Amino acid sequence: MKQRTVYMFIFLVLFIGVASHAQYQSSITEELYGYVLGIEGSDIAKRKAFILDQLQALGIGYVVAPFREVFVQRNDSTKKADTLIIRGENIIARVGTGFKKIVLGAHYDVYEGSPGANDNGSGVAVALGLLKYFRDREMKHSLEVCFFDKEEQGLWGSMNYIKNFAIGAKHLAYINIDVVGAGNEIFIGPIGGGDDANLMPIVREAMRKLPFKYVERSEYPYSDYVPFAAVKLENISISVVPEGDADKLIQYERARGMTDTLSTSPRLLSIIHTPEDRATYVSPHSLKLAFEFVREIVEILNVRR
Ligand SMILES: [Zn+2]
Repeated sequence: MKQRTVYMFIFLVLFIGVASHAQYQSSITEELYGYVLGIEGSDIAKRKAFILDQLQALGIGYVVAPFREVFVQRNDSTKKADTLIIRGENIIARVGTGFKKIVLGAHYDVYEGSPGANDNGSGVAVALGLLKYFRDREMKHSLEVCFFDKEEQGLWGSMNYIKNFAIGAKHLAYINIDVVGAGNEIFIGPIGGGDDANLMPIVREAMRKLPFKYVERSEYPYSDYVPFAAVKLENISISVVPEGDADKLIQYERARGMTDTLSTSPRLLSIIHTPEDRATYVSPHSLKLAFEFVREIVEILNVRR
């Protein structure tokens, strides 16, 4: 080849490389943000319908698993027992047919009156993006994605899943994705406690591969990982938070209502669980961080175990 032809060739290869990378960057962030726009809103029936529409469009198999739980609570003023009936529907989608299961979870219900774009439309968006991604990949293990209901009222959906669907011999890992739509630090927890000894080395391998900002803590706010932890199934939870919020969220959780003792509140709490939790405050960049990080963990798990 003439020198000019060689230069032209090198230029073309570089151009195509940069262009396709840029294309990937914009298409994945747009796709994830589009899911947040689609699910945003406090009407739970509409949120459920949105997820089912997406799964059907993607050609991904799923079941809708309704549940009914009875909760008896002692009423301190009447000294009588109040009976609460909790109804909900988990949506469980799956790609791959392997015996062992990698389980991802993102609750789709909302705190009453909140449009739940970040909490937890962001987690649902990332879970949908991952289903689409792994649908087209060779899977050694099954990837089961749970869209849990009634997390906000007390983890009822994930507790029901543990009762009816979890099988220890099949379980490889549970990765809980909750609130990943704002900030640029990936908050991972709760670490230790005897239920992540196999999973954490893989999580750390993904951390080494992807140079994002990480905060690992032994505590993590109350979320759908708890029922998994209670039966010692390997699990970890992931959020994307504004800088400094991980420790503030832990402090807030410890204070449990006695929030006037806190010097500073987590920035996230000025938005989530309020009518302000709208897509306007969700960052496509944060969604992409969570997507790439969880994708990396699943990819390592899929070849390794
Ligand atoms: Zn949540």
